[in-house]
Amino acid sequence: MKDEESILSRRSFLGAGARATAPPWAAGVFGTGRPYKEAAFRAARWIDSLEIHRGVNTIWPISPGASVSFDLYSGIPGVVLFQLALSKAGSRDALTRAMAGANTLIEHIASGETKSGLYVGIAGISWTLERVYQQSRVAVYRDHARLAARTALESLPNETDVVFGLAGVGYMLLRMSESVGDSALLDGAVTCGERLLDRAQETDDGGVRWLMRSGDEVEMPGFSHGTAGVVAYLATLYQATGSERFLSAASAGGRHLIALSEGDDCMIPRKPTERIFYSGWCHGPVGTARAFHALNVAEGGRWADWVVKCAKAVRKGVGFEDWNNFGLCCGLAGKLAFFLDLFAASGSQNWLVVAKRLGDELVRGAVSSDGELCWPHAEHRVKPSEIVAQSGLMQGASGIGLTLLQLDAVLGGESASTYLPDNPFLYPNNINPE
Ligand SMILES: [Zn+2]
Repeated sequence: MKDEESILSRRSFLGAGARATAPPWAAGVFGTGRPYKEAAFRAARWIDSLEIHRGVNTIWPISPGASVSFDLYSGIPGVVLFQLALSKAGSRDALTRAMAGANTLIEHIASGETKSGLYVGIAGISWTLERVYQQSRVAVYRDHARLAARTALESLPNETDVVFGLAGVGYMLLRMSESVGDSALLDGAVTCGERLLDRAQETDDGGVRWLMRSGDEVEMPGFSHGTAGVVAYLATLYQATGSERFLSAASAGGRHLIALSEGDDCMIPRKPTERIFYSGWCHGPVGTARAFHALNVAEGGRWADWVVKCAKAVRKGVGFEDWNNFGLCCGLAGKLAFFLDLFAASGSQNWLVVAKRLGDELVRGAVSSDGELCWPHAEHRVKPSEIVAQSGLMQGASGIGLTLLQLDAVLGGESASTYLPDNPFLYPNNINPE
């Protein structure tokens, strides 16, 4: 508690950190002062070892010898986003790799992708292609990104959630409309919001909730598949449109989340029918904090205490069913990204101290071979013996590498350079208009 109150000077903080954390292999091309960037570039080498070329296209399987995915969650889009970040960080051939991956995604869309979600489906591919265009300025990626966005708009999902459903697609359409200036995409984002209003269910605690699919009997209140993700989206949509009905529903959803919370910090069970608590982006306070932050921005600071309660729960780390996972979805990288978000939103060095500690854990947890780094882990808590090193965004080396690059950038006084449409912490100030 005491250390949380002490503010370190930037110089002493960076100096102490660099001495204390450099791993033995970090005396590479960047010197001992950049261990996180070094680790990210070594992760990139491991991902490079998986790549398969098909003409002007490149694919990366989810893991060595495994199948290929086209989803942002675990497939090629995440590797492409990592390549874009590597290019910004100085890698000479990463932009070429990103475009070769984007070529594969364009071919995949043409073959008839049927899902429209952000993390599973065409919305995530659209977002990725737009980022490739923003960095390469090659028009074919812009054209296909916007074509894909229209396709997602015309085939909105039935699910409500961020991963598969309306909240995730709505986030993509909203952010894409801001950077592209296409009012039809904003109209689509509003349609997603209206459909979510129709799906809100009143709860006994005076709030509302959203079930992922019609007919579901058990609620998952977290960010990836439930109420927290929908609340974040509707609060963000209110900021963009000024429409009070979205804020009213988001606020009622926030009250329901508070009613589900236990203890002094924000502890919400993965499902109200079981007392199992996850800490991460998917079902834990790392993700739920996004709902409270979006509400807090929309309602002038009323929800700030709940953002901090989420942060304290994660930092304390007590009472969670954590398992061997390093990824952005369920594990360490997601926590690191969260504390970087908190630092970006508050400017408080206290959160950066926690982020750096988690970055050190991530680096120490890597498996090193021939100068390459990967993170073998269990994707699922209930399958702890299925240990696999993945290449993608939410469970693999791309997401971990991206986050380590963000930590390196922040320690160098820069802002995080890569962001996703569903992160309310990074908007609106980090939007890159054309
Ligand atoms: Zn997860």
